[in-house]
Amino acid sequence: MKGEPYLFLPGPTPVPERVARAMNRPMINHRGEEFKAILEDVVAGIKQIYRTSANLLIYPASGTGGLEAAVVNFISPGDKVLAVSIGIFGDRFASIAEAFGAEVEKIDFPWGTGADSQRIRERLEQDKDHRIKAVLITQNETSTGAYNDVKTIREAMGDHPALLMVDAVSGLAAIDLRMDEWRLDVVISGSQKAFMIPPGLSFMAFSDKAFQVYQKNTNTKYYWDLAEGLKYLRQGQTPFTPPISLYYGLREALQIMAEEGLENVIARHTAYRDMVRASLRAMGLRLLTEDRYASSAVTSVIAPPEIGANPIRKYMLDQFNIILAGGQQKLDNVIFRIGHLGYIRELDLLAVLAALEITLDHFDFSLDMGAGLKIAQKAILNMHKQ
Ligand SMILES: *Cc1c(COP(=O)(O)O)cnc(C)c1O
Repeated sequence: MKGEPYLFLPGPTPVPERVARAMNRPMINHRGEEFKAILEDVVAGIKQIYRTSANLLIYPASGTGGLEAAVVNFISPGDKVLAVSIGIFGDRFASIAEAFGAEVEKIDFPWGTGADSQRIRERLEQDKDHRIKAVLITQNETSTGAYNDVKTIREAMGDHPALLMVDAVSGLAAIDLRMDEWRLDVVISGSQKAFMIPPGLSFMAFSDKAFQVYQKNTNTKYYWDLAEGLKYLRQGQTPFTPPISLYYGLREALQIMAEEGLENVIARHTAYRDMVRASLRAMGLRLLTEDRYASSAVTSVIAPPEIGANPIRKYMLDQFNIILAGGQQKLDNVIFRIGHLGYIRELDLLAVLAALEITLDHFDFSLDMGAGLKIAQKAILNMHKQ
């Protein structure tokens, strides 16, 4: 029996039944009282996850739309921008800035690692006349499963006035992030990762300092212009028709997260990461990232080269209806990725790990069947003792 797919992508992630049901309601007037209450509710809820009291706008867009909104509102053509990249999403943020006229200087770190804050510190110290207007960084690099220590990177910027703009699309609510405490200027996130709702919403919070930069901004914008968003938000509306169903889902998802408690949500993701990594290692598999960079949202597994990552994914899909992510660009067929963010339960992870052992055995990879599963079972037992 095939049944529903087991979705282990680092986005889109599974949608809880409660959220799916909440979304299945009639449309309402997006300029009426009911929508106003929903909008106020979800903005407040998202701010709790951001740990911020800054302004926050919701855009009807995938995460990339949120990144573009950040670029066109806070970066002007000709601005020098330091783009820190540890993978494909870091590259994307840099490309968007470039597309809108920024003079982009990129610092690349090897795929599978996090950025070295010392190098960012040194580069900014050299920038005596403060030509660099913004530093772009990815909180969680979904393409590799490495994350950046955003707090330390912010500290490394010292007194440099550049804005720190963070792509937290796949990291927020899976990995600790404290916008106000860490003094982050612009933080972008999205709906289809740890927020447990379908793709289509992105979130952008910005500090007062960022707002001052916005007021002098000369970039071309219309749909993304934050002044419009703020003006309408004050009346409990959005400038353009919002995807109302997604707002229903968002409100329910925020409620689910509030019931669990943000600390517990983050701790759960961390525990899943450790469990998955220990289990994979017990199977004799290698991981792309070292422990110190390892993401709580997604784990990249180096496939045994004699098998290749894509045949493993294909077998898992055909035999078990398990959907794993592949490697992108130079990592295609080299790694496969197991997403463990959002609405993933302990036993879902047992399912994917058990199926992986069966798959490896099918491909005659030498392993002690059950060794990985046993580690995972013990990890779950430990979680329940706490
Ligand atoms: C998913 C993701 C995005 C946004 O991608 P979309 O396909 O536009 O939603 C941006 N950054 C990171 C790190 C992501 O994981």
